[in-house]
Amino acid sequence: MEELKPSGIRKVFDKVGQLKSKGIEVSNFSIGRSFFDTPSMIKEETKKALDKGMVHYTGSVGIMELRNAIVQRILIDKGVEYKPEEIIVTIGGSEGMFVALQTLLCPGDEVIIPEPMYVYYKGWISFAGAKCISLPLKEEDFSLNLEELEKKINSSTKMILINSPHNPTGSVISRQNLERIANLAKKYDLLILSDEIYQRITYDDCQAFSIASFPQMKERTVVSDSFSKTYAMDGWRIGYLAAPQEIISQIAKLHQHTISCPNTFVQVGATAALNQDQECVESMVLEFTRRRELMMGYLKRMKLPFIVPKGAFYFFPLIREFNLSSEELADYLLKEAKVAVVPGNAFGKAGEGYIRLSFSPPYEEIRTGMERMEKAIQKLRE
Ligand code: PMP
Repeated sequence: MEELKPSGIRKVFDKVGQLKSKGIEVSNFSIGRSFFDTPSMIKEETKKALDKGMVHYTGSVGIMELRNAIVQRILIDKGVEYKPEEIIVTIGGSEGMFVALQTLLCPGDEVIIPEPMYVYYKGWISFAGAKCISLPLKEEDFSLNLEELEKKINSSTKMILINSPHNPTGSVISRQNLERIANLAKKYDLLILSDEIYQRITYDDCQAFSIASFPQMKERTVVSDSFSKTYAMDGWRIGYLAAPQEIISQIAKLHQHTISCPNTFVQVGATAALNQDQECVESMVLEFTRRRELMMGYLKRMKLPFIVPKGAFYFFPLIREFNLSSEELADYLLKEAKVAVVPGNAFGKAGEGYIRLSFSPPYEEIRTGMERMEKAIQKLRE
């Protein structure tokens, strides 16, 4: 526990909280959540479930209606066939990945993860006594260096953890690269944990594929997905894991021993989310596209080098020219421009020299915040 550090995102959150308590308004581009409300139909179905008395425990892997709906959705979105027995409903992607890693890793095992990486992966892996082996992404396009990946594989390597579309860079792993990762996993008999939480949030005709859909990959892959981003349901705390029977049945035991079962009426809301026509997801992605354009225009004007995100809702511009650490620059922007961003080092050493800005906030908030940020950047350059 002493080695476990608080998330760098939470640190920003606390600093923003301090300013807000003094009545200072902050444009908050640091939060990794959707700024949309949960679609009302999902809320209505959940309220009905509450009124019907769905307030008691369910089976620990989740209600059959939801697992059936997940199976259907995975077939459409990921092109993989699962049985309901191969699905566990989890408390968000977080609990799912946590129990998957605790189940599958032994002390001394190594997990290769592209870096920068989502803030909690390292901690989850260290809890299992395993080691996180970072694979720095290529600076020119945040793609994977597959030669380096193969060099890092040794007899202790148990797993490769991938996240596409990627938090914090917005990159999406190409079909070709997924195929090459799949081939390495088969060649060296490795497991894959695939964090697909942003799969449906992509731009410019880009498609994010699931590695589980590649030949002979379902059997060695654990897919983690969630309702948090796709349906703006992060506070509802619901997600799922999909994996072949022999793997999921082991994970299911730890899941049961940890949480007993996911929230009952929330499962009804999640079923409604999957069974409705998916127009709400499409219109949300369209609006994200508009917000991405707006923020991109400002970043270009500021001449901050960045790679256009193909998915998720983050920019990860390079800030090395200022000769400040990412934390120092984030502090400066908060003080000078009242703009909150996440220092890149929150996502690991490979994130140093960058900051993460979310373009999820409302259009007008992006405009006002970026106007202030532009002035602060100009001032810093003078
Ligand atoms: N993975 C990634 C890459 C994320 O960005 C997040 C949330 N920000 C999660 C997992 C966890 O999401 P949740 O537990 O809300 O499903």
